[in-house]
Amino acid sequence: MSDQQFITYMAAFQKAAEHTGACAPCQDDRLCPTGDPLHAEFLTQQGRWEANKRRTERNAARRAAWRAASRHRMARHAASDLITYGPWNGDRPAATTADVIRRTSALYGGHLDAPITPAEAAKALEAALTT
Ligand SMILES: [Zn+2]
Repeated sequence: MSDQQFITYMAAFQKAAEHTGACAPCQDDRLCPTGDPLHAEFLTQQGRWEANKRRTERNAARRAAWRAASRHRMARHAASDLITYGPWNGDRPAATTADVIRRTSALYGGHLDAPITPAEAAKALEAALTT
């Protein structure tokens, strides 16, 4: 959402609130000819701002989901490499979450905004082992 939209919304709120504070009919929910358009404008701006806020939040959630899936693919690739080409201890690969973090950074460093976390590495190791 834009700052300007929020400022416009707050200005409309303030105008309506100031008027209502000084107008007995409007306080009584019987909007006067001056108060009516002020309240209508406030509701319009509130609706716009809330719609924009919902859209912004939806987009942020989509970006977060995409980022998590992308990081998982990279970590899983690194984990698969370690499992396929790295040493094993009996029936378990020797690769640790720290190894997955290092390998993911080595393979995809330029594409990672931050190193894979231990939790992401553990999930990737598990996924690479089970499929
Ligand atoms: Zn009024």
